[in-house]
Amino acid sequence: MLPSRPLPEVLSDILTLQGAVLEKTPDDCLEFLAPPVLSEMLGIPEHGKMSFAYQPAPGEAISAAYDSDLFRAIARLFPEKNQLAMALYPSPALNMAKMSGSVEEKIVLANATFRLKQTESRAIRYLLGFFKYTALSDEKREGLMSLLVNELNLSTSAAGERLTEIMGALQEADPDKKPNPEITKVFQAARSAAALAVVEELGPFGQSLNKRLNRDIKRVFEYYETIKIETQKAMEKKALSGEQSVEKQREKVNAIETEKRWKIQDLISKYALNIRIELVAFIVVETQSPVFWIEIKRRLSSRPFPLTYNPLLRKWDPLPCESCFYPRGGYSICDDKLHIICSACFKKCSQCGKPFCSACHKHGCPRCSKGTAQ
Ligand SMILES: [Zn+2]
Ligand SMILES: [Zn+2]
Ligand SMILES: [Zn+2]
Repeated sequence: MLPSRPLPEVLSDILTLQGAVLEKTPDDCLEFLAPPVLSEMLGIPEHGKMSFAYQPAPGEAISAAYDSDLFRAIARLFPEKNQLAMALYPSPALNMAKMSGSVEEKIVLANATFRLKQTESRAIRYLLGFFKYTALSDEKREGLMSLLVNELNLSTSAAGERLTEIMGALQEADPDKKPNPEITKVFQAARSAAALAVVEELGPFGQSLNKRLNRDIKRVFEYYETIKIETQKAMEKKALSGEQSVEKQREKVNAIETEKRWKIQDLISKYALNIRIELVAFIVVETQSPVFWIEIKRRLSSRPFPLTYNPLLRKWDPLPCESCFYPRGGYSICDDKLHIICSACFKKCSQCGKPFCSACHKHGCPRCSKGTAQ
């Protein structure tokens, strides 16, 4: 799953879809021409410039940075959940027979088998969600990521570089069409996958945090060790001359030790990574997609599962992990409900050592009452 795109590009895509005309200016702003309805909704003039810099916007330009009023107003373009913005994506003609032949190669299950039962071409909906993330530590990182979730099987993928093309090809949907109630599940899957995708994307940032944390801990540690040695030396002299008791010495060293522990704890909180994720905008996209119904078999049970080809991304949708929804790979099938579970979610219990399904048992190992899993 990969990366978020620069804010000006994504915003420009969203506004273009709403009928605005935008153009980059030499000073890294976007000059825009907005239809009256859009300008009213966003509280901006029909013609102007928007800036993405954190410093006060140059000249007349309106700020469109992550913490601006305009950025928050964008969310208004995408109304309440029961009036989801819907669009159509024209699906290309695909050779179903040829695709059926390659289903075998698309799936690897560690502990189960499967076979293709049936194929069909049908209307499918994808949620295209835009998530803003803020990672707070001793510094702040922000970004926007776009995610596609298949409503039928909850497979998630990053829209990545295809986003502009997808947005460009979207067509207006029949206004009477309403997404079905299953949509809540789709949002949950999107949020879970987005959170994990952010952690992945911030990987190098997290590593640099750890490096700085270790460096500072080492400094604090050395500083207090030096003080301790010096204090001890000074006190030994005093003890020899009978000025101070051994008991007093011990108290002083303990106080230094406690202060050292506090300082280290402070550093750990200072460098801890706190990630917040916010869904800022979304569109439900309907398209015609080939669906390959497979039968997953584990021991004596079986379960039908729809494998899909994603016409928006022009590739197969990855299998979803039905616990975390992040397409990490390395899938197993659980015994009870035949969930598809990634290696991180098919975890071993820290107490009994036996693996359990995180989709069936959200609160931990079913065998151990406390259920504290790693
Ligand atoms: Zn998982
Ligand atoms: Zn256990
Ligand atoms: Zn399960």
